Amino acid sequence: MSIKERLEIILEKIAKAADKAGRKPEEVKLLGASKTQPPEKIREAFAAGLSLFGENYVQEAKKKKEALTDLPLTWHLIGYLQRNKAKDALKIFDLIETVDREAIATELEKRAARLEKVVPVFIEVNVGGEETKAGVAPEELPALVECVLGLSHLRLEGLMTIPPYREDPEEVRPFFVRLRELKEDLERRFPEAKFRELSMGMSHDFHVAVEEGATIVRVGTALFGPRPKK
Ligand SMILES: *Cc1c(COP(=O)(O)O)cnc(C)c1O
Repeated sequence: MSIKERLEIILEKIAKAADKAGRKPEEVKLLGASKTQPPEKIREAFAAGLSLFGENYVQEAKKKKEALTDLPLTWHLIGYLQRNKAKDALKIFDLIETVDREAIATELEKRAARLEKVVPVFIEVNVGGEETKAGVAPEELPALVECVLGLSHLRLEGLMTIPPYREDPEEVRPFFVRLRELKEDLERRFPEAKFRELSMGMSHDFHVAVEEGATIVRVGTALFGPRPKK
C-alpha cells in the first residue's frame, strides 16, 4: 500500500472516532512519526497532504530537515531531550512535546532567551507510572506546570503521553482518560494557562485516543509501513 492510501485510511478512522465522540475531525491533527524513515518517505507523505512530522532524535531530525528545506513542514520533538541537545533542538523543532523535568525546562528557557525566541512546549506525563518511561509523574505535574508557566521563553500549550503498550487498544483507554482528566484539573488550577493540545495515540490505538479527546495523534508504522532499521 502507498503512503497516500494509508493516509486516507488513517484520516477515515480519525473522522469516524471523532464522530463517535461528538467531535469534529478538524479538531484532530495527524503527526507523522517519522523516526528512522528516510526523507523520501516524508516527501511522499507531504505530497499526499501531510505537513506535520515528529522526530525522536535531534541529530536525525537535523539531517532530514536539511534534506527537505524546500518543503513547508512543521516539526515536533517527540523523543527524550538531553540537556546538551537543548540548544540544537530549539534551532530545529517548532515545538517540543517532551518537557518532563525542571532541569530541561530551565535549560530550554536559558537557550531560548539567548536565541531571542519563545518556544511552544508540551509537558510529557508518565500516565502508566512505568519506570522505564520518560515523563513526569502525575503527582509532580502541577509543580512542573508552575515552573514552566514562570519561564517567559516557553509557552505551555498542552500535554503529551506515551501510555503502556497493550495488545487490546481498549485497555489503553483509561490512560488516555487519565491524561484528559489531568488537563482538566490543570485548567481549573491554572486558569491563566492554555492547555489546548492533548498529544496521545499511536498506530494501534489512535482511534481510542481520538474518542478520549486527543488533538494530536502521532502515527508511525500505520502511515509509513514498518520502520527500517537504523
Ligand atoms: C515511534 C513513536 C510513535 C509512533 O509509533 P507507531 O506505533 O509506529 O505509530 C509515536 N510517538 C512516539 C513518541 C514515538 O516514539
